[in-house]
Amino acid sequence: MGKVTGFLEYERLEEGYEPVQMRLANWREFVIGLNAEQAKQQGARCMDCGTPFCNNGCPVNNIIPDFNDLVYRGTPADWAAAIEVLHSTNNFPEFTGRVCPAPCEAACTLNVNDDAVGIKSIEHAIIDRAWAEGWVKPQPAAVKTGKKVAVVGSGPAGLAAAQQLARAGHAVTVFEKNSRAGGLLRYGIPDFKMEKSHIDRRVEQMKAEGVVFLTGVLVGAMPKDSKVTSDAKETISAEQLKAEFDAVLLTGGAEQSRDLPVPGRELDGVHFAMEFLPQQNKVVAGDKLKSQLRADGKHVIVIGGGDTGSDCVGTSNRHGAASVTQFELMPMPPEQEDKPLVWPYWPVKLRTSSSHEEGCERTFAIATKEFVAGTGKDKGRVAGLKTVQVQWQGAKMTEVAGSEREWKADLVLLAMGFVSPVASVLEAFGVERDARGNARAHTEAAGGYRTNVDKVFAAGDMRRGQSLVVWAIREGRQAARAIDEHLMGASTLPR
Ligand SMILES: Cc1cc2nc3c(=O)[nH]c(=O)nc-3n(C[C@H](O)[C@H](O)[C@H](O)COP(=O)(O)OP(=O)(O)OC[C@H]3O[C@@H](n4cnc5c(N)ncnc54)[C@H](O)[C@@H]3O)c2cc1C
Ligand code: SF4
Repeated sequence: MGKVTGFLEYERLEEGYEPVQMRLANWREFVIGLNAEQAKQQGARCMDCGTPFCNNGCPVNNIIPDFNDLVYRGTPADWAAAIEVLHSTNNFPEFTGRVCPAPCEAACTLNVNDDAVGIKSIEHAIIDRAWAEGWVKPQPAAVKTGKKVAVVGSGPAGLAAAQQLARAGHAVTVFEKNSRAGGLLRYGIPDFKMEKSHIDRRVEQMKAEGVVFLTGVLVGAMPKDSKVTSDAKETISAEQLKAEFDAVLLTGGAEQSRDLPVPGRELDGVHFAMEFLPQQNKVVAGDKLKSQLRADGKHVIVIGGGDTGSDCVGTSNRHGAASVTQFELMPMPPEQEDKPLVWPYWPVKLRTSSSHEEGCERTFAIATKEFVAGTGKDKGRVAGLKTVQVQWQGAKMTEVAGSEREWKADLVLLAMGFVSPVASVLEAFGVERDARGNARAHTEAAGGYRTNVDKVFAAGDMRRGQSLVVWAIREGRQAARAIDEHLMGASTLPR
């Protein structure tokens, strides 16, 4: 273990942030990672628990006590060993080290009556050093199997699966309808949370391992009036894919945004978050857009209190919005969870993101009743919205009489989550859907990740519904093993 008395001697260290004014002036990442000495101290706090709850709380089951110990020991050889340990369970620690909400830390034993080990900051430090030292190299398979696998979608689930399958010797082609790989890592999560060079670097590594990326290619079909991001210039049918490949993995995400069908929804200026965020990421990447949804000088209201809403807040503030307000339908959660009651599980508590700290009024237990149109030259454009406060008794919501209010708004962003994958993509393959509209496939070992259609598998948000990057990586890895078993009769890929 780290240092036997480390948890008594040292406090948790948080990663630093650049000052708000500085970070609002650009789109770059602003988190200042731990240096080697700080990471060593943080690693020293780990107690190497007999039952490491952190390892169980982590969806990819990172072997956390081992890399904590190696970072505490601190020689270059120890750091090189730490990235081996990390990569043994997680293909892309630079993604999770930046954007994971860290359920491992909620589960850490130290979190019971102290502050958790800064596991995510250690992960971040290990992978950044590994790239800087040149320790991350392509690992092409020594023996090719001659089997061909198509992966539809290049989000974290598709990328993790493709890398695992290529390393098992299969010829993998990734089909992506957008012009760049990465899924929501590329076009949802803003650059200030994760710069896209991290994805580019992995794509290069995977190409060197033999993975072929076909971008701008839509598999199946997309409804004509769809607002889902697509740069597709070509379409390939489900039949063609099934005929040409020995297995197909569907990792198309859950891209159907939840709508708010109240009066005035059709007004100009009311948009899904996923119309707003991808455009900014494209501009940062150097794309020339015909027009861009921007928040400059506008009163922005973001409806939805989750990660996507928070990303809209940060993006609007970087545009120079006049004001940013975020609505959440649920009541304000407690600032501090009841630890003995909830540990080691993920607690419901008030979470204030770095974007909230940059400037945002947050309102809870509020429902939008109507979008109000402007007049004169602003006819047809949103000028405000009408709301009412709500109260909750269990799952029952009632409106509070007399709490109606009108708000000024020039831009409204709907960030209320995603209901399901785009149905037409699954329909094109004849894949059955569950009650929530996700691809139906269980995750148990035998037959895991298989859909009802022969040799077609599904993983990530497309199978489990809207989730997290770390769950997508887990599902991609596990689905890769299931496909390898299906093709070869057995697999040495880790589960
Ligand atoms: C704005 C936003 C912020 C988020 N922030 C976080 C965060 O901070 N931390 C976190 O852990 N999670 C976050 N998430 C959730 C996380 O990004 C997703 O859970 C994760 O990306 C899902 O991975 P996936 O590979 O299953 O699908 P996706 O990332 O959605 O990728 C699916 C890919 O498939 C492609 N595709 C779909 N259909 C087709 C088709 N028919 N043909 C070809 N290509 C197709 C899509 O274009 C897309 O590139 C966020 C989500 C959003 C929207
Ligand atoms: S639960 Fe916390 S203290 Fe225990 S092994 Fe994991 S990181 Fe270390």
